[in-house]
Amino acid sequence: MTDTIEIDRLHKRYGRRIALHELDLRVRPGTVFGLIGPNGAGKTTALRTLVDIIRPSSGAVRVLGEDPRRGGPALRRRIGYVPGELHLEGRASGHRMLSFYARVSGERDSTATLRTAHELADRLGVDLSRPVRTLSKGNKQKVGLIQAFMHRPELLILDEPTSGLDPLVQREFLQLVREAKHAGQTVLLSSHVLSEIQQTADEVAVLANGRVVADGDVASLRLGSIRRVRAEVATA
Ligand code: ATP
Repeated sequence: MTDTIEIDRLHKRYGRRIALHELDLRVRPGTVFGLIGPNGAGKTTALRTLVDIIRPSSGAVRVLGEDPRRGGPALRRRIGYVPGELHLEGRASGHRMLSFYARVSGERDSTATLRTAHELADRLGVDLSRPVRTLSKGNKQKVGLIQAFMHRPELLILDEPTSGLDPLVQREFLQLVREAKHAGQTVLLSSHVLSEIQQTADEVAVLANGRVVADGDVASLRLGSIRRVRAEVATA
């Protein structure tokens, strides 16, 4: 079976700064993959190339079997994306904005999509009747999550999705990720928060300075475990 995401020798430079060094990564269908790493590691850059917001300097990317550059709206419809920096400043209410998204993305059943949007809003605790620009940062983030999940896409690409959410809402979000996996959806999630990766991801890659420095399943990586090494050095 083809992998849902295939990244081969992805290289991205911004002038003299190299954001990604020949990155290789595979995400298998129906799994949750966690990308973790410090600020500036290249997580956002990698995720943006998957949705064709930025273009690689070299290397190849395939998403759901297609090149994101050529997949167009048909491919985008199959993906739910939460950007790392979410800007929601419109005068429209959450409800209006989400129904607009459902329509422009050509949902076959936009009524069902909107029904799901309202169920998600209840679970996450956000009022969709308010103009989005008047919402707090955390509540805007919830609207961002809803627009990614509401059409039940085959693939969810979530860039630091829990930023600004309080712990109870974070828990509800983790539940949504588990449900997505249970329904056969694939999830790629970036985070700074070890515990949320540990609680949801089947596989993890640790990124630092644009390179994968460790990868594997959560258990084998033993993320966050404290290890002490004692060494004795013989001197002459
Ligand atoms: P964070 O956890 O802080 O969001 P990140 O892992 O998502 O970080 P990126 O945002 O992908 O990291 O950044 C990777 C590197 O690329 C950083 O050194 C960053 O400064 C650089 N970078 C990102 N976008 C640009 C840009 N538009 N122009 C120049 N450099 C950039």
